[in-house]
Amino acid sequence: MKSCYYCGSRVELRLIEYMRRRGGRKWIVRNVPTYVCTECGEGYYNAAVVGVLDQLLYDCRMRGSTSRITILDYDESLEKSESGQKDDKGQSP
Ligand SMILES: [Zn+2]
Repeated sequence: MKSCYYCGSRVELRLIEYMRRRGGRKWIVRNVPTYVCTECGEGYYNAAVVGVLDQLLYDCRMRGSTSRITILDYDESLEKSESGQKDDKGQSP
């Protein structure tokens, strides 16, 4: 993505804090790579990033933590490549 869906301005990759609230609790994930519009500030998460966020928050809930504020760090090793796409370079017959 190179331009903002709303205002057409340039978007750039930044590391931001993602926050989710539910039932009086709060989760913060730091250093989330996100495309942010330089003009209106709209953020765009790609599917892989959203998958990692869901995984982090799911794991956190499974651990049964009851703290009201949980701070996590983004883990890019949890990113899944889309539909098995791989870099085929060097694998030609
Ligand atoms: Zn914009």
